[in-house]
Amino acid sequence: MNDQSEKMEKIVSLCKRRGFVFQGSDIYGGLKGTWDLGPLGVALNNNIKREWWKMFVDGREDMYGLDAAILMNAKVWEASGHVGGFVDPLIEDTVTGERYRADHFLKEHGINADGFSLEQIDTVIVEKEFKSPKGNPLSKARTFNMMCESRIGAVAGPEGQVYLRPETAQGIFVNFKNVVDTMSPKLPFGIAQIGKAFRNEIAPREFLFRVREFEQMEIEYFVKESEWKGEFEKLRQDIKAWHAHLGLSEENLREYEVPENDLAHYSKRTIDVEYNYPGKGFDELAGFAYRTDHDLKAHMEASGVSLEYIEPDGSRFVPHVLEPSFGVGRAFTAVLCEAYQEDEMNGEVRTYLKLPAHLAPYRVAVSPLLKNKPELVTKAREVFVMLKKEFGNVAWDDNSNVGKRYRRQDEIGTPYCVTIDFDTLGENPALLDTVTVRQRDTGEQERVSLQQLVEFLQ
Ligand code: ATP
Repeated sequence: MNDQSEKMEKIVSLCKRRGFVFQGSDIYGGLKGTWDLGPLGVALNNNIKREWWKMFVDGREDMYGLDAAILMNAKVWEASGHVGGFVDPLIEDTVTGERYRADHFLKEHGINADGFSLEQIDTVIVEKEFKSPKGNPLSKARTFNMMCESRIGAVAGPEGQVYLRPETAQGIFVNFKNVVDTMSPKLPFGIAQIGKAFRNEIAPREFLFRVREFEQMEIEYFVKESEWKGEFEKLRQDIKAWHAHLGLSEENLREYEVPENDLAHYSKRTIDVEYNYPGKGFDELAGFAYRTDHDLKAHMEASGVSLEYIEPDGSRFVPHVLEPSFGVGRAFTAVLCEAYQEDEMNGEVRTYLKLPAHLAPYRVAVSPLLKNKPELVTKAREVFVMLKKEFGNVAWDDNSNVGKRYRRQDEIGTPYCVTIDFDTLGENPALLDTVTVRQRDTGEQERVSLQQLVEFLQ
Protein backbone atom coordinates (compact mmCIF):
# COMPACT_ATOMS: atom_id res chain seq x y z
CA MET A 1 0.00 0.00 0.00
CA ASN A 2 1.38 3.44 -0.86
CA ASP A 3 1.43 6.44 1.48
CA GLN A 4 -1.64 8.00 -0.05
CA SER A 5 -3.80 4.86 0.21
CA GLU A 6 -2.59 4.52 3.77
CA LYS A 7 -3.61 8.10 4.46
CA MET A 8 -7.12 7.39 3.18
CA GLU A 9 -7.36 4.31 5.41
CA LYS A 10 -6.31 6.38 8.40
CA ILE A 11 -8.98 8.97 7.62
CA VAL A 12 -11.69 6.32 7.30
CA SER A 13 -10.61 4.76 10.58
CA LEU A 14 -10.51 8.16 12.32
CA CYS A 15 -14.03 8.80 11.02
CA LYS A 16 -15.30 5.66 12.70
CA ARG A 17 -13.24 5.92 15.90
CA ARG A 18 -14.16 9.54 16.58
CA GLY A 19 -17.83 9.48 15.60
CA PHE A 20 -17.80 11.09 12.17
CA VAL A 21 -19.04 8.24 9.96
CA PHE A 22 -20.38 4.77 10.74
CA GLN A 23 -21.29 1.99 8.38
CA GLY A 24 -25.05 2.10 7.66
CA SER A 25 -27.08 -0.50 9.62
CA ASP A 26 -23.84 -1.37 11.40
CA ILE A 27 -25.10 -3.90 13.97
CA TYR A 28 -26.72 -5.92 11.16
CA GLY A 29 -23.51 -6.14 9.20
CA GLY A 30 -24.16 -3.00 7.17
CA LEU A 31 -26.00 -2.18 3.97
CA LYS A 32 -23.78 -1.65 0.96
CA GLY A 33 -23.59 1.91 -0.30
CA THR A 34 -24.98 3.51 2.86
CA TRP A 35 -23.19 5.34 5.65
CA ASP A 36 -24.49 7.01 8.81
CA LEU A 37 -23.13 10.28 10.12
CA GLY A 38 -22.22 10.27 13.79
CA PRO A 39 -22.31 13.27 16.16
CA LEU A 40 -19.19 14.89 14.73
CA GLY A 41 -19.97 13.93 11.13
CA VAL A 42 -23.40 15.50 11.20
CA ALA A 43 -21.84 18.66 12.63
CA LEU A 44 -19.27 18.87 9.83
CA ASN A 45 -21.89 17.98 7.21
CA ASN A 46 -24.29 20.63 8.49
CA ASN A 47 -21.51 23.20 8.55
CA ILE A 48 -20.71 22.47 4.90
CA LYS A 49 -24.36 22.79 3.92
CA ARG A 50 -24.87 25.93 6.00
CA GLU A 51 -21.80 27.62 4.48
CA TRP A 52 -22.96 26.67 0.99
CA TRP A 53 -26.41 28.12 1.62
CA LYS A 54 -24.85 31.27 3.06
CA MET A 55 -22.61 31.71 0.04
CA PHE A 56 -24.97 30.75 -2.75
CA VAL A 57 -28.41 31.73 -1.43
CA ASP A 58 -28.35 34.15 1.51
CA GLY A 59 -25.23 35.90 0.24
CA ARG A 60 -26.78 36.77 -3.12
CA GLU A 61 -29.77 38.61 -4.50
CA ASP A 62 -30.34 36.37 -7.50
CA MET A 63 -30.94 33.01 -5.77
CA TYR A 64 -34.09 31.48 -4.36
CA GLY A 65 -34.18 28.49 -2.02
CA LEU A 66 -36.35 25.42 -2.43
CA ASP A 67 -36.98 22.14 -0.66
CA ALA A 68 -38.96 19.85 -2.95
CA ALA A 69 -40.31 16.41 -2.00
CA ILE A 70 -38.07 13.42 -2.60
CA LEU A 71 -41.00 11.45 -3.99
CA MET A 72 -42.32 12.91 -7.21
CA ASN A 73 -44.90 11.92 -9.76
CA ALA A 74 -43.34 9.20 -11.95
CA LYS A 75 -44.17 11.33 -15.00
CA VAL A 76 -41.38 13.71 -13.92
CA TRP A 77 -38.81 10.98 -14.49
CA GLU A 78 -40.32 9.92 -17.79
CA ALA A 79 -40.17 13.49 -19.08
CA SER A 80 -36.65 14.08 -17.77
CA GLY A 81 -35.40 11.01 -19.59
CA HIS A 82 -34.33 9.15 -16.45
CA VAL A 83 -36.76 6.22 -16.85
CA GLY A 84 -35.43 5.55 -20.33
CA GLY A 85 -31.86 6.71 -20.10
CA PHE A 86 -30.40 6.99 -16.60
CA VAL A 87 -28.28 3.93 -17.10
CA ASP A 88 -24.78 2.67 -16.57
CA PRO A 89 -23.15 -0.19 -18.52
CA LEU A 90 -23.08 -3.42 -16.53
CA ILE A 91 -20.99 -6.57 -16.96
CA GLU A 92 -21.19 -9.72 -14.88
CA ASP A 93 -18.87 -12.47 -13.80
CA THR A 94 -20.59 -15.37 -15.59
CA VAL A 95 -19.71 -17.80 -12.78
CA THR A 96 -20.26 -15.85 -9.55
CA GLY A 97 -22.79 -13.35 -10.87
CA GLU A 98 -20.80 -10.46 -9.38
CA ARG A 99 -21.51 -7.19 -11.15
CA TYR A 100 -19.17 -4.48 -12.32
CA ARG A 101 -19.67 -1.11 -13.91
CA ALA A 102 -18.10 -1.68 -17.32
CA ASP A 103 -16.57 1.78 -17.77
CA HIS A 104 -14.98 1.61 -14.31
CA PHE A 105 -13.76 -1.93 -14.98
CA LEU A 106 -12.07 -0.82 -18.20
CA LYS A 107 -10.64 2.30 -16.55
CA GLU A 108 -8.95 0.05 -14.00
CA HIS A 109 -7.40 -1.76 -16.98
CA GLY A 110 -6.09 1.54 -18.37
CA ILE A 111 -8.84 2.09 -20.96
CA ASN A 112 -10.92 5.25 -20.99
CA ALA A 113 -14.36 3.97 -21.98
CA ASP A 114 -16.27 7.24 -21.52
CA GLY A 115 -18.84 7.47 -24.28
CA PHE A 116 -18.35 3.82 -25.41
CA SER A 117 -21.38 1.95 -26.78
CA LEU A 118 -22.21 -1.50 -25.39
CA GLU A 119 -20.76 -3.04 -28.56
CA GLN A 120 -17.49 -1.14 -28.13
CA ILE A 121 -17.23 -2.39 -24.54
CA ASP A 122 -17.81 -6.00 -25.68
CA THR A 123 -15.23 -5.66 -28.45
CA VAL A 124 -12.52 -4.39 -26.07
CA ILE A 125 -13.24 -7.13 -23.53
CA VAL A 126 -12.99 -9.82 -26.21
CA GLU A 127 -9.92 -8.33 -27.91
CA LYS A 128 -7.97 -7.86 -24.71
CA GLU A 129 -9.24 -11.16 -23.28
CA PHE A 130 -10.25 -9.47 -20.02
CA LYS A 131 -11.56 -11.73 -17.27
CA SER A 132 -13.40 -10.85 -14.06
CA PRO A 133 -11.26 -10.17 -10.95
CA LYS A 134 -11.99 -13.81 -10.00
CA GLY A 135 -10.55 -14.99 -13.33
CA ASN A 136 -13.91 -15.97 -14.87
CA PRO A 137 -15.36 -15.03 -18.27
CA LEU A 138 -17.39 -11.82 -18.40
CA SER A 139 -20.91 -11.42 -19.74
CA LYS A 140 -21.82 -9.08 -22.57
CA ALA A 141 -22.40 -5.51 -21.48
CA ARG A 142 -25.97 -4.35 -20.92
CA THR A 143 -27.54 -1.22 -19.54
CA PHE A 144 -28.69 -0.98 -15.96
CA ASN A 145 -31.11 1.72 -14.76
CA MET A 146 -29.82 3.37 -11.62
CA MET A 147 -33.09 4.69 -10.27
CA CYS A 148 -34.29 3.21 -6.98
CA GLU A 149 -37.90 2.19 -7.30
CA SER A 150 -40.54 2.12 -4.61
CA ARG A 151 -44.30 1.96 -4.25
CA ILE A 152 -46.75 4.21 -2.47
CA GLY A 153 -50.47 3.93 -1.72
CA ALA A 154 -52.60 1.19 -0.33
CA VAL A 155 -53.55 -0.37 -3.65
CA ALA A 156 -51.22 -2.36 -5.83
CA GLY A 157 -51.05 -1.05 -9.39
CA PRO A 158 -49.01 1.09 -11.73
CA GLU A 159 -50.27 4.33 -10.16
CA GLY A 160 -48.34 3.47 -6.99
CA GLN A 161 -45.00 3.30 -8.85
CA VAL A 162 -42.54 5.93 -7.62
CA TYR A 163 -38.81 6.52 -7.83
CA LEU A 164 -36.54 7.95 -5.18
CA ARG A 165 -35.10 10.98 -6.93
CA PRO A 166 -31.65 10.35 -8.44
CA GLU A 167 -30.92 14.10 -8.43
CA THR A 168 -32.48 17.11 -6.76
CA ALA A 169 -32.48 19.09 -10.01
CA GLN A 170 -35.84 17.90 -11.32
CA GLY A 171 -37.56 19.17 -8.17
CA ILE A 172 -36.30 22.60 -9.18
CA PHE A 173 -37.49 22.37 -12.79
CA VAL A 174 -41.00 21.32 -11.84
CA ASN A 175 -41.18 24.25 -9.40
CA PHE A 176 -39.85 26.79 -11.89
CA LYS A 177 -43.31 28.23 -12.55
CA ASN A 178 -44.21 28.31 -8.85
CA VAL A 179 -41.10 30.29 -8.02
CA VAL A 180 -41.56 32.68 -10.96
CA ASP A 181 -45.23 33.24 -10.10
CA THR A 182 -44.62 33.84 -6.40
CA MET A 183 -41.28 35.67 -6.37
CA SER A 184 -41.24 37.51 -9.74
CA PRO A 185 -37.49 37.02 -10.20
CA LYS A 186 -35.61 38.89 -12.92
CA LEU A 187 -33.30 36.93 -15.24
CA PRO A 188 -30.67 35.75 -14.64
CA PHE A 189 -31.67 34.03 -11.41
CA GLY A 190 -31.13 30.69 -9.74
CA ILE A 191 -33.08 28.23 -7.64
CA ALA A 192 -31.01 26.31 -5.10
CA GLN A 193 -31.77 23.16 -3.19
CA ILE A 194 -30.01 20.82 -0.79
CA GLY A 195 -31.37 17.33 -0.38
CA LYS A 196 -31.05 13.59 -0.59
CA ALA A 197 -30.64 11.72 -3.85
CA PHE A 198 -30.59 7.98 -4.46
CA ARG A 199 -28.82 5.97 -7.12
CA ASN A 200 -28.69 2.22 -7.39
CA GLU A 201 -24.95 2.29 -8.11
CA ILE A 202 -23.76 -1.02 -9.53
CA ALA A 203 -20.67 -1.05 -7.34
CA PRO A 204 -20.75 1.42 -4.43
CA ARG A 205 -17.23 1.92 -3.14
CA GLU A 206 -14.52 4.18 -1.86
CA PHE A 207 -16.11 5.34 1.38
CA LEU A 208 -18.50 8.24 0.78
CA PHE A 209 -17.35 8.70 -2.79
CA ARG A 210 -19.82 6.38 -4.49
CA VAL A 211 -22.85 5.52 -2.40
CA ARG A 212 -26.48 4.71 -3.04
CA GLU A 213 -27.95 7.39 -0.79
CA PHE A 214 -26.29 10.81 -0.72
CA GLU A 215 -26.93 14.51 -0.52
CA GLN A 216 -26.61 17.07 -3.25
CA MET A 217 -26.43 20.84 -3.25
CA GLU A 218 -27.69 21.97 -6.62
CA ILE A 219 -28.47 25.20 -8.43
CA GLU A 220 -30.40 25.65 -11.63
CA TYR A 221 -29.42 29.08 -12.90
CA PHE A 222 -31.80 30.46 -15.52
CA VAL A 223 -30.38 32.74 -18.19
CA LYS A 224 -31.18 34.14 -21.63
CA GLU A 225 -29.65 31.91 -24.27
CA SER A 226 -27.55 34.79 -25.63
CA GLU A 227 -26.00 35.34 -22.18
CA TRP A 228 -25.05 31.80 -21.20
CA LYS A 229 -21.32 32.13 -21.88
CA GLY A 230 -20.80 35.18 -19.66
CA GLU A 231 -22.92 33.72 -16.86
CA PHE A 232 -21.09 30.41 -17.16
CA GLU A 233 -17.77 32.16 -16.51
CA LYS A 234 -19.17 34.02 -13.49
CA LEU A 235 -20.55 30.87 -11.90
CA ARG A 236 -17.31 29.08 -12.64
CA GLN A 237 -15.51 31.68 -10.50
CA ASP A 238 -18.15 31.29 -7.76
CA ILE A 239 -17.54 27.54 -7.74
CA LYS A 240 -13.81 28.20 -7.35
CA ALA A 241 -14.50 30.56 -4.46
CA TRP A 242 -16.66 27.89 -2.82
CA HIS A 243 -13.93 25.28 -2.95
CA ALA A 244 -11.43 27.77 -1.54
CA HIS A 245 -13.90 28.47 1.29
CA LEU A 246 -13.87 24.74 2.05
CA GLY A 247 -10.12 25.07 2.55
CA LEU A 248 -9.25 22.90 -0.48
CA SER A 249 -5.87 23.83 -1.91
CA GLU A 250 -5.49 24.76 -5.55
CA GLU A 251 -2.98 22.01 -6.23
CA ASN A 252 -5.53 19.38 -5.20
CA LEU A 253 -8.22 20.78 -7.48
CA ARG A 254 -8.52 20.81 -11.23
CA GLU A 255 -11.15 21.34 -13.87
CA TYR A 256 -11.88 18.65 -16.40
CA GLU A 257 -13.54 19.87 -19.57
CA VAL A 258 -15.80 17.00 -20.64
CA PRO A 259 -15.01 16.34 -24.33
CA GLU A 260 -17.78 17.01 -26.80
CA ASN A 261 -18.27 13.34 -27.73
CA ASP A 262 -18.85 12.50 -24.07
CA LEU A 263 -21.34 15.28 -23.25
CA ALA A 264 -24.89 14.34 -22.29
CA HIS A 265 -27.05 14.92 -25.39
CA TYR A 266 -28.67 18.03 -23.86
CA SER A 267 -25.43 19.62 -22.65
CA LYS A 268 -23.38 22.05 -24.73
CA ARG A 269 -20.61 22.33 -22.17
CA THR A 270 -19.74 20.52 -18.94
CA ILE A 271 -16.85 21.00 -16.58
CA ASP A 272 -16.22 18.53 -13.79
CA VAL A 273 -14.34 19.90 -10.82
CA GLU A 274 -12.00 17.16 -9.65
CA TYR A 275 -10.28 16.69 -6.32
CA ASN A 276 -7.09 14.74 -5.76
CA TYR A 277 -8.37 12.12 -3.28
CA PRO A 278 -5.49 10.33 -1.52
CA GLY A 279 -4.92 6.88 -2.94
CA LYS A 280 -7.45 7.47 -5.72
CA GLY A 281 -6.15 10.52 -7.52
CA PHE A 282 -8.20 13.17 -9.28
CA ASP A 283 -11.90 12.36 -9.55
CA GLU A 284 -15.18 14.24 -9.64
CA LEU A 285 -16.06 16.48 -6.72
CA ALA A 286 -18.71 18.60 -8.43
CA GLY A 287 -20.20 19.05 -11.87
CA PHE A 288 -21.05 22.20 -13.79
CA ALA A 289 -23.18 21.83 -16.90
CA TYR A 290 -24.84 24.08 -19.43
CA ARG A 291 -28.10 22.16 -19.97
CA THR A 292 -29.61 24.50 -22.57
CA ASP A 293 -33.43 24.67 -22.38
CA HIS A 294 -33.71 20.89 -22.51
CA ASP A 295 -35.31 20.23 -19.11
CA LEU A 296 -37.86 23.04 -19.03
CA LYS A 297 -38.91 22.22 -22.61
CA ALA A 298 -39.26 18.51 -21.82
CA HIS A 299 -41.48 19.25 -18.79
CA MET A 300 -43.46 21.81 -20.71
CA GLU A 301 -44.21 19.32 -23.42
CA ALA A 302 -45.02 16.44 -21.06
CA SER A 303 -47.14 18.41 -18.57
CA GLY A 304 -48.81 20.76 -21.04
CA VAL A 305 -48.04 23.66 -18.67
CA SER A 306 -46.19 26.65 -20.08
CA LEU A 307 -42.77 27.10 -18.50
CA GLU A 308 -41.97 30.21 -20.46
CA TYR A 309 -40.56 33.28 -18.83
CA ILE A 310 -42.34 36.52 -19.68
CA GLU A 311 -40.25 39.68 -19.89
CA PRO A 312 -41.71 43.05 -18.83
CA ASP A 313 -42.07 43.92 -22.54
CA GLY A 314 -44.29 40.86 -23.04
CA SER A 315 -41.75 38.72 -24.92
CA ARG A 316 -41.79 35.06 -23.87
CA PHE A 317 -39.23 32.30 -24.10
CA VAL A 318 -37.96 29.23 -22.29
CA PRO A 319 -34.82 30.19 -20.34
CA HIS A 320 -31.57 28.26 -20.67
CA VAL A 321 -29.99 26.67 -17.65
CA LEU A 322 -26.57 26.46 -16.02
CA GLU A 323 -26.28 23.78 -13.37
CA PRO A 324 -23.61 23.71 -10.66
CA SER A 325 -24.10 20.42 -8.83
CA PHE A 326 -22.20 19.52 -5.67
CA GLY A 327 -22.20 16.23 -3.76
CA VAL A 328 -22.11 16.91 -0.02
CA GLY A 329 -20.42 13.57 0.77
CA ARG A 330 -17.65 14.18 -1.75
CA ALA A 331 -17.09 17.68 -0.31
CA PHE A 332 -17.07 16.17 3.20
CA THR A 333 -14.44 13.64 2.11
CA ALA A 334 -12.30 16.23 0.34
CA VAL A 335 -12.43 18.53 3.38
CA LEU A 336 -11.26 15.71 5.65
CA CYS A 337 -8.52 14.62 3.23
CA GLU A 338 -7.23 18.16 2.97
CA ALA A 339 -7.37 18.72 6.73
CA TYR A 340 -5.74 15.46 7.82
CA GLN A 341 -2.21 16.14 9.12
CA GLU A 342 0.45 14.31 11.02
CA ASP A 343 3.33 16.11 12.71
CA GLU A 344 5.53 15.84 15.74
CA MET A 345 4.74 17.75 18.91
CA ASN A 346 6.61 17.43 22.18
CA GLY A 347 8.46 14.41 20.83
CA GLU A 348 5.29 12.54 19.89
CA VAL A 349 3.58 11.94 16.59
CA ARG A 350 0.23 13.67 16.61
CA THR A 351 -2.68 13.51 14.23
CA TYR A 352 -4.81 16.56 13.74
CA LEU A 353 -7.46 17.91 11.44
CA LYS A 354 -6.57 21.35 10.19
CA LEU A 355 -10.21 22.23 9.53
CA PRO A 356 -11.24 25.81 8.84
CA ALA A 357 -12.95 27.15 12.01
CA HIS A 358 -16.25 27.62 10.14
CA LEU A 359 -16.35 23.87 9.36
CA ALA A 360 -14.95 22.31 12.54
CA PRO A 361 -17.51 20.26 14.50
CA TYR A 362 -16.52 22.16 17.65
CA ARG A 363 -15.18 25.70 17.55
CA VAL A 364 -13.71 25.41 21.02
CA ALA A 365 -13.37 22.94 23.89
CA VAL A 366 -13.51 24.09 27.52
CA SER A 367 -11.81 22.25 30.41
CA PRO A 368 -11.04 22.73 34.07
CA LEU A 369 -7.35 22.05 34.70
CA LEU A 370 -8.34 19.37 37.25
CA LYS A 371 -11.73 17.78 37.41
CA ASN A 372 -11.57 17.00 41.14
CA LYS A 373 -11.33 20.67 42.18
CA PRO A 374 -14.93 21.94 42.46
CA GLU A 375 -13.89 25.60 42.34
CA LEU A 376 -12.18 25.04 38.96
CA VAL A 377 -15.09 23.02 37.63
CA THR A 378 -17.62 25.69 38.67
CA LYS A 379 -15.67 28.43 36.93
CA ALA A 380 -15.07 26.28 33.85
CA ARG A 381 -18.80 25.50 33.61
CA GLU A 382 -19.51 29.25 33.69
CA VAL A 383 -17.11 29.83 30.82
CA PHE A 384 -18.54 26.84 28.95
CA VAL A 385 -22.12 28.17 29.27
CA MET A 386 -21.02 31.63 28.14
CA LEU A 387 -19.27 30.28 25.03
CA LYS A 388 -22.05 27.82 24.27
CA LYS A 389 -24.55 30.69 24.19
CA GLU A 390 -22.31 32.51 21.78
CA PHE A 391 -21.15 29.72 19.44
CA GLY A 392 -23.37 26.70 20.10
CA ASN A 393 -20.78 24.14 19.02
CA VAL A 394 -18.64 24.10 22.15
CA ALA A 395 -17.29 20.91 23.75
CA TRP A 396 -16.88 20.17 27.45
CA ASP A 397 -13.86 17.98 28.08
CA ASP A 398 -12.66 17.10 31.58
CA ASN A 399 -11.34 13.59 30.96
CA SER A 400 -7.76 12.66 31.81
CA ASN A 401 -4.94 15.22 31.72
CA VAL A 402 -4.64 18.41 29.72
CA GLY A 403 -2.12 16.99 27.21
CA LYS A 404 -4.43 14.12 26.31
CA ARG A 405 -7.39 16.47 25.99
CA TYR A 406 -5.45 18.59 23.53
CA ARG A 407 -4.60 15.51 21.46
CA ARG A 408 -8.23 14.39 21.44
CA GLN A 409 -9.44 17.80 20.32
CA ASP A 410 -6.65 18.07 17.71
CA GLU A 411 -7.76 14.79 16.22
CA ILE A 412 -11.30 16.06 15.62
CA GLY A 413 -10.16 19.48 14.41
CA THR A 414 -11.21 21.74 17.31
CA PRO A 415 -9.34 25.00 16.59
CA TYR A 416 -9.09 26.16 20.23
CA CYS A 417 -8.94 24.66 23.71
CA VAL A 418 -9.68 26.88 26.71
CA THR A 419 -8.39 25.81 30.12
CA ILE A 420 -9.46 27.25 33.46
CA ASP A 421 -6.74 26.99 36.12
CA PHE A 422 -5.96 28.39 39.55
CA ASP A 423 -4.70 31.64 38.06
CA THR A 424 -8.15 32.16 36.53
CA LEU A 425 -9.44 32.14 40.12
CA GLY A 426 -6.79 34.68 41.16
CA GLU A 427 -3.97 32.58 42.64
CA ASN A 428 -1.76 34.98 40.74
CA PRO A 429 -3.84 38.16 41.13
CA ALA A 430 -2.44 39.61 37.92
CA LEU A 431 -4.06 36.73 35.99
CA LEU A 432 -7.47 36.81 37.66
CA ASP A 433 -10.25 36.09 35.14
CA THR A 434 -7.88 35.08 32.39
CA VAL A 435 -7.76 31.65 30.75
CA THR A 436 -5.26 29.70 28.69
CA VAL A 437 -6.19 29.45 25.03
CA ARG A 438 -4.28 26.82 23.11
CA GLN A 439 -4.22 26.85 19.30
CA ARG A 440 -4.62 23.58 17.46
CA ASP A 441 -2.23 24.11 14.55
CA THR A 442 0.77 25.50 16.39
CA GLY A 443 0.18 24.22 19.92
CA GLU A 444 0.87 27.78 21.10
CA GLN A 445 -0.78 28.93 24.28
CA GLU A 446 -1.67 32.41 25.38
CA ARG A 447 -3.48 34.05 28.25
CA VAL A 448 -6.71 35.76 27.28
CA SER A 449 -9.04 37.69 29.58
CA LEU A 450 -12.56 36.34 29.91
CA GLN A 451 -13.88 39.69 28.71
CA GLN A 452 -12.06 39.33 25.41
CA LEU A 453 -12.50 35.60 24.98
CA VAL A 454 -15.51 35.61 22.64
CA GLU A 455 -13.90 38.17 20.37
CA PHE A 456 -10.63 36.21 20.40
CA LEU A 457 -12.37 33.01 19.31
CA GLN A 458 -14.47 34.63 16.59
P1 ATP B 1 -19.93 10.06 -11.40
O1 ATP B 1 -19.47 10.30 -12.81
O2 ATP B 1 -18.83 10.13 -10.39
O3 ATP B 1 -20.85 8.88 -11.26
P2 ATP B 1 -21.99 11.89 -12.04
O4 ATP B 1 -21.34 12.65 -13.15
O5 ATP B 1 -22.98 10.85 -12.38
O6 ATP B 1 -20.86 11.32 -11.06
P3 ATP B 1 -23.75 13.99 -11.37
O7 ATP B 1 -24.94 13.33 -11.93
O8 ATP B 1 -23.14 15.13 -12.12
O9 ATP B 1 -22.63 12.91 -11.05
O10 ATP B 1 -24.07 14.42 -9.87
C1 ATP B 1 -23.61 15.63 -9.30
C2 ATP B 1 -22.75 15.37 -8.08
O11 ATP B 1 -23.40 14.48 -7.18
C3 ATP B 1 -21.43 14.71 -8.39
O12 ATP B 1 -20.46 15.66 -8.78
C4 ATP B 1 -21.08 14.09 -7.06
O13 ATP B 1 -20.50 15.06 -6.18
C5 ATP B 1 -22.44 13.69 -6.51
N1 ATP B 1 -22.69 12.27 -6.73
C6 ATP B 1 -23.18 11.68 -7.84
N2 ATP B 1 -23.29 10.35 -7.68
C7 ATP B 1 -22.87 10.08 -6.43
C8 ATP B 1 -22.76 8.88 -5.66
N3 ATP B 1 -23.15 7.70 -6.14
N4 ATP B 1 -22.26 8.97 -4.39
C9 ATP B 1 -21.89 10.16 -3.88
N5 ATP B 1 -21.98 11.32 -4.57
C10 ATP B 1 -22.47 11.30 -5.81
